[in-house]
Amino acid sequence: MEIVVLGGGQLARLLALAAYPLGIKMVCIEPNKDSSAKQVTSVVNSEFIYDEQLAAYFDRATCITYETENLPINFVTTIAAHHSLAPGIRPLEITQDRLLEKNFLKELAIPTVPYTAIDSWEDLIQKINRFKFPVILKTRTSGYDGKGQIIAHQQRELKDAWEFLSESPLLLEQLVDYDFEISIISVRSSSGEIRFYPLILNHHRSGILRYSEAPFDNQKLTAIAQSYAEKILKEFDYVGVMAIEFFSVGNQLLVNEIAPRVHNSGHWTIEGAKTSQFENHLRAILGWPLGSTEAKGFSTLINCIGHLPNNLPELLKIDDLHFHTYGKAPRPNRKLGHITLCAETPEQLAAKVREVESLLLMP
Ligand code: ADP
Ligand code: MG
Repeated sequence: MEIVVLGGGQLARLLALAAYPLGIKMVCIEPNKDSSAKQVTSVVNSEFIYDEQLAAYFDRATCITYETENLPINFVTTIAAHHSLAPGIRPLEITQDRLLEKNFLKELAIPTVPYTAIDSWEDLIQKINRFKFPVILKTRTSGYDGKGQIIAHQQRELKDAWEFLSESPLLLEQLVDYDFEISIISVRSSSGEIRFYPLILNHHRSGILRYSEAPFDNQKLTAIAQSYAEKILKEFDYVGVMAIEFFSVGNQLLVNEIAPRVHNSGHWTIEGAKTSQFENHLRAILGWPLGSTEAKGFSTLINCIGHLPNNLPELLKIDDLHFHTYGKAPRPNRKLGHITLCAETPEQLAAKVREVESLLLMP
């Protein structure tokens, strides 16, 4: 059994670690020489251009999947014409462009923040009147971890934001004063069965996910999040794991983003759920039965950003603490690894989080 993953970042690495015990051989295609997945699985160092060398890998694979939405559509379309690709081209096409994504959600009557496409400075000056400061200007494509987006609190900051980003097609969004951010991770099998992980409460700073807590117990919001996820999964005829990020405002959920892949906020599922998001993605794309998405207890996921802890043996004294490095070179604001803390009760978990915080210089 062999699969190909387009991309070789930390998500591919964590997928490979889930594939190994299942006897699935995994090959990644990755343009960067130095990839996170390379240390644990085969990586073909190649541009995302369809050629004979790559076709040979695709031919051998039972299924081809992706770990990033930043892939050339013509490349993926060629793959899908000749081989089995999951979750498919359309989820990729829609989610790699923030404008198409928001238009798609609008068509499904799923609420988002107010937004508009921006084509020029004149266009921006005219359309800003429909918004209230602060606003957020984002590149339509290629953004991640808060990159490619700038908040403008007033008119004069708008000019700087525009000048910084205007090489790319842009989207203007209302900056919403949300109560909190949550995500839902769902998985749909090839036979159409859908399972949901519990809601996850996410804490971002400067656009980067710092830590996540699961399960976030809120029946009302769970029902809303699941209904939106189900609508999207069915519309895409989706196979695999999909994540949705939300802003919670009052009793309403606004969809921020859809990720057609495994997601950082779901890393706690490796130790904290009966089946990890990575294993369930593999099960889904291979046409296997889905595993239980139930949480075993309570988990907190802490991202290691910019630097890894320098006192790992000290941290490992904490019961049910799990450390994952991604094998990447340290760089400011780069996700280098994560820690998952698990406990039977929220109180026990909170005590452990405090212990970790005292040992870690939390970024
Ligand atoms: P990325 O692709 O980098 O994850 P997002 O659009 O999800 O981009 O933005 C990253 C984070 O920035 C969000 O999780 C949120 O904390 C903040 N953010 C983005 N857009 C808005 C918005 N319109 N209103 C309020 N906060 C926002
Ligand atoms: Mg996001």
